[in-house]
Amino acid sequence: MTGRKCCIVNMLSGVEEEEFGLSQYCRCGALMHLMLRPIIYAGKVEIDHVPVYSCKQCNASQLLPEVKQELTTMIDQLGDKPDRQYLKFSEMNEIAYLIYQASSQRNKSVQLQQIIYDRMDDLLDLMNLAKSIGDEAWKEELSRRLMQITSPEMQKQIKSELDCEKF
Ligand SMILES: [Zn+2]
Repeated sequence: MTGRKCCIVNMLSGVEEEEFGLSQYCRCGALMHLMLRPIIYAGKVEIDHVPVYSCKQCNASQLLPEVKQELTTMIDQLGDKPDRQYLKFSEMNEIAYLIYQASSQRNKSVQLQQIIYDRMDDLLDLMNLAKSIGDEAWKEELSRRLMQITSPEMQKQIKSELDCEKF
């Protein structure tokens, strides 16, 4: 298990920008695969389900750029001296959640698009619930999550739906 965990400092300190883009090739030349890995912060906090590109050849891994900002924010909130704890990034980030769902055995034969639509349905249902109980903070959190999984075109579509319902 320990061998699979990588140092978060290395991952956040950025060789990744130049290496990402469309190609997902490692510096060693092998193809990298997108997967979820646990990372350790400050030797105490295990953050599970973090999306990284990982190389089977040389074991290098690079953080998925789309989640970098949220992971950085999460770590900032934990501070320098966090308590020992176990967190699931997939419960805080929709991209991680989708990868988690898409790679689960249960969804083996389900199209990613379907998983995204199902998740959007769930989030919109929760949004209705949050609205009905007047929970503003929850509504905001849910709309932030919706943004994470939707393209600008999709966002427009959802927004117009939400406007119709007077959110
Ligand atoms: Zn490699």
